Amino acid sequence: MNVFSDTAFDGHEQVVFASDETTGLKTIIAVHNTNLGPSLGGCRMWPYASEQEAIHDVLRLSRGMTYKSALANLPLGGGKSVIIGDPRSQKTPELFRAMGRAVEQVGGRYIVAEDVGTSPEDMEQIASQTKHVGGINDGSDPARTGDPSPFTAYGVFIGLKEAARFKFGSDDLTGLRVAVQGLGHVGYHLCQMLHDAGAKLIVADLNNNSVTAAVNAFGATAVSVDDILATEADILAPCALGGVINDKTIEKLRVGIIAGAANNQLEHDRHGDMLREAGILYAPDYVINAGGVVEVHYCREGKPVAETNKHIEGIAITVREIFERAKQQNLSTGFVADRLAEERFGLTRRAA
Ligand code: NAD
Repeated sequence: MNVFSDTAFDGHEQVVFASDETTGLKTIIAVHNTNLGPSLGGCRMWPYASEQEAIHDVLRLSRGMTYKSALANLPLGGGKSVIIGDPRSQKTPELFRAMGRAVEQVGGRYIVAEDVGTSPEDMEQIASQTKHVGGINDGSDPARTGDPSPFTAYGVFIGLKEAARFKFGSDDLTGLRVAVQGLGHVGYHLCQMLHDAGAKLIVADLNNNSVTAAVNAFGATAVSVDDILATEADILAPCALGGVINDKTIEKLRVGIIAGAANNQLEHDRHGDMLREAGILYAPDYVINAGGVVEVHYCREGKPVAETNKHIEGIAITVREIFERAKQQNLSTGFVADRLAEERFGLTRRAA
């Protein structure tokens, strides 16, 4: 079992393995970097095929949170936790209370939140054992439902508009064709905002009900999930899966901009260079999909939704700086985003 030599280790400050015999808890809590503040990141529950897979996943996700929070201008570092187990069959309130105790023992260097396989109810159980938990909605602001997805969608919308301004000279979306892949929690909210801004929508989802809803509500044009990435449009918004920009899809793209919510849209970093060479402006996913983490932070601080939204609007400034630097230096936007994040969280690497 490798930890220090895992490819995603990348100077993690702390990795905690914790277990609880009675409830069957097996968790790994990874704290990548706390230069800007305590690390915050979701708790993923997943039936990992091996412990190595769980270690790799938590390290990779934790590191990603450092970069995301730094570029979102949050006073937070990057961390993440995983619970090894099947969320469909192995969840109990006691398990999450044991998780809360494990988080408490990290002493505030890690703040846990919801992620794939965990729910607001699970966070309530954790909150009974530790105050180091985010995304608990106390109901004091009616504009807050506890779901971060609308905030994520708002950040994507802001980033997408800034990309349009940079590429097309205006952020007026009236009449622009936006192809949206995935009409889930984020994608559907994004469609609403794009529709309200006058964009023409082209949509695809595996779920026919979501497609029908978007067609009826927004006058969207439906295309098949196999065709959405090759659709001719001004902007493509991937809001479903990671890895959609790859060797196979890149040559089929017929858009000027890619700006969407999905995490890890580029299969490899080199696909960012390929997009640049093809003249496609890519808004780095983790920069524009940070609205959800901003909301988790503001909710935890007890600040109103209006302040969350104001902060999210700052994504426009960051993404513009990335576009400008990338253009001046002839580099991919993803590469520039990573370097800007490292400047902000003060990464110092030892010379090789
Ligand atoms: P979701 O599960 O609610 O929605 C995903 C949608 O994509 C579903 O409707 C699904 O049917 C559809 N889909 C799956 N495969 C597809 C395919 N091949 N073609 C077309 N549609 C397909 O997820 P979500 O919360 O809306 O998140 C969407 C993406 O954004 C994910 O990659 C997620 O990691 C990322 N993200 C979400 C948030 C958030 O706040 N929810 C925050 C940051 C990043």
